[in-house]
Amino acid sequence: MKTLGLIGGMSWESTVPYYRFINEAIKARLGGLHSARLVLYSVDFEEIARLQHAGDWDAAGSMLADVAQRLERAGAEALVICTNTMHKVAPAIEAKVRIPVLHVVDAVAAEIRAAGFHKVGLLGTRFTMEQPFYAQYLARHGLTTLVPEQADRDLVHRVVYEELCLGKIVAASRDAYRRIMARLVTQGAEAIILGCTEISMLVGPQDASVPLFDTTAIHARKAAEWAVA
Ligand code: GLU
Repeated sequence: MKTLGLIGGMSWESTVPYYRFINEAIKARLGGLHSARLVLYSVDFEEIARLQHAGDWDAAGSMLADVAQRLERAGAEALVICTNTMHKVAPAIEAKVRIPVLHVVDAVAAEIRAAGFHKVGLLGTRFTMEQPFYAQYLARHGLTTLVPEQADRDLVHRVVYEELCLGKIVAASRDAYRRIMARLVTQGAEAIILGCTEISMLVGPQDASVPLFDTTAIHARKAAEWAVA
């Protein structure tokens, strides 16, 4: 089994399920008392979130590249960036290490394509929904992305940072997410990507009329599969 290097803590609320999903996948695959070989470096998310909101992606990228080098030195053979948003700086990370980054969009797009969908709704942080890095990467896999309208994007973003990353589950926010997902379906979304690793804390398959693709579960499972391939 190969050793995974997890860049976590963004937020720690979603790093916990990553750890659990990776171990569950290894156990399902290898049985017995098998568990994942991994090294986790969990950052202080306050520092990262400040840089994101200030638009200082270079500094955020350098910080995560430094973390990636530490994981490589600790024996990691591949990196798992445990957040969708920070895949924006995946190229800056890849430039500083010799080991591969197991990209979240490669993982989720493969599952969406296998299910036969082409047009997907995307929920995530404002950065993920509005900046080209995520939708362009999906397009490379032949997927067309629909994002919510401005007011809905603002709500989805606010709920991530002010509620989910703090472990708060608010029923009114779940209702709002349901309405936003329904609007994406009306616009033609065949499936919806939960493109932020905390969103599955709030909504699940019962909250939408189309299949949901939870990036946390999918990314973690694909990483585990890579480790034992
Ligand atoms: N975990 C979230 C994501 O998947 C948001 C936190 C972050 O900005 O890293 O995008």
